[in-house]
Amino acid sequence: MTNYDIAIIGSGPGGYVAAIYAARHKLKTCVIEKGLVGGTCLNRGCIPTKSFLNSASILSEIKSSSEYGIDVSGYNIDFAKMASRKDEAVLRLRAGIETLFRGNKIELIRGRAEISGPDAIKIEGAGTITAKNIIIAAGSRPANLPNVKIDEADVLSSDGILDIKTLPKSLVIIGGGVIGCEFASLYNTLGSKVIIVEFTDRLIPTQSREASKKLEMSFKKRGIDIFTSSSAETVTKDGALKVSVSGGTSIECEKVLVSVGRRPEADGLGDMKAAGIALDKGRIVVDEHLRTGAKNIFAIGDCINGPLLAHKASYDGIVAIDNILGKARKPDYSNVPSCIWTEPEIASVGICEEEAKAKYPDARIAKFPYMGSGKAYIMGKSEGFAKIIGDKDGKILGVEMFGALACELIAEAVLAKTAGLTIEEWSRAVHGHPTLSEILQEAAHVFCGTPIHGL
Ligand SMILES: Cc1cc2nc3c(=O)[nH]c(=O)nc-3n(C[C@H](O)[C@H](O)[C@H](O)COP(=O)(O)OP(=O)(O)OC[C@H]3O[C@@H](n4cnc5c(N)ncnc54)[C@H](O)[C@@H]3O)c2cc1C
Repeated sequence: MTNYDIAIIGSGPGGYVAAIYAARHKLKTCVIEKGLVGGTCLNRGCIPTKSFLNSASILSEIKSSSEYGIDVSGYNIDFAKMASRKDEAVLRLRAGIETLFRGNKIELIRGRAEISGPDAIKIEGAGTITAKNIIIAAGSRPANLPNVKIDEADVLSSDGILDIKTLPKSLVIIGGGVIGCEFASLYNTLGSKVIIVEFTDRLIPTQSREASKKLEMSFKKRGIDIFTSSSAETVTKDGALKVSVSGGTSIECEKVLVSVGRRPEADGLGDMKAAGIALDKGRIVVDEHLRTGAKNIFAIGDCINGPLLAHKASYDGIVAIDNILGKARKPDYSNVPSCIWTEPEIASVGICEEEAKAKYPDARIAKFPYMGSGKAYIMGKSEGFAKIIGDKDGKILGVEMFGALACELIAEAVLAKTAGLTIEEWSRAVHGHPTLSEILQEAAHVFCGTPIHGL
């Protein structure tokens, strides 16, 4: 039985970042992982999807290249190669984390972990360890529907779709949230017929109504069929695969993707109640310092509350270690950006227009279109906008971008908001020209009543 300063259950972006940060603070650390190092993000989430989406964006550029004076003829989509490039990226990055573990003297223990006492963890096939502090970073798994059976052959989860070997001719996506819309954008670009069935009245309901409407318009223009305020009632296979949708529509397709959210992976961790750890709707309950009901057991990432995002999980990990080190930190999710890699991209930080108007009667909104940007015009990416929402004193409440490279550009808004800049101070920062970042500066100018390239 080895005694550690910190034992971390799960090696996703929550667990592995917490482990490295702990080791950098000279704490004797181990990570216990039942699956693949890197968790959902690296093996079944962020990295594989973005690898495919990167291939798709190269294809989009090729398709429109003649507008830029380059005629490309005879291009081919090699889906198997795209998939193997994705596999290579995953393998390489996984090896990178394992190297970081070794370099930081973090012990990686393979096996399923169960909390077996206030400071003890039983590991399937590897005995029991003790630790002064434990962090649960067990993540989440795809949610399913009671009436639709996922077989990972015809009816796929977001895990299964990453392993298909051929490009489907048609794909019905049940669930038009972030994951569903990213896959819709990807498969539409690659040439599949895509149909989205979404239960609420709009795509990506976590974003502003304006961004989801614009995405819907853009998707429809690209030939994606969208059924909002609709539910998939049955999926049957009698020869052809058929999805019946509320309202009487029946859709034939080659594959179905079920992307209806994620469930916390907080079960299977032993007798949580006996350990003093409470669950709420399957999520581990933590206090404002990320501590569970047990004094020395913390929980982070997808298995607790807050946005289900890799960078939020990593942020939690660092906050939890700081708290173990006695720094009494509280996570602030209002500065955690949300990034959606559809085409066009959507990114935001803070609150959206609807929420601001409801909470702050004096809130003001300033918008600048991509159309007004020289760089966007050169790139042929004039669709989109940047929106800054501020309070009466010019403090940033939220920023939303819809358009090319929004997921990269939002970093500037995150920095401005985290640093507490006023929108006027932001407008004074000199931006390189010609860059898309000028769109944000222009939106800040609009807020201050001094638009330069807009009327
Ligand atoms: C298709 C898809 C695309 C996504 N794209 C993005 C994106 O672009 N950007 C973004 O920010 N987020 C994205 N996400 C979300 C992101 O992947 C998660 O928010 C993130 O992985 C959560 O990190 P985590 O460390 O909390 O948990 P996870 O990454 O889920 O890792 C948890 C780990 O704990 C292990 N584990 C669980 N229980 C035990 C146990 N009892 N014993 C031992 N080990 C255990 C699991 O095997 C797993 O490896 C995406 C998700 C999906 C599904």
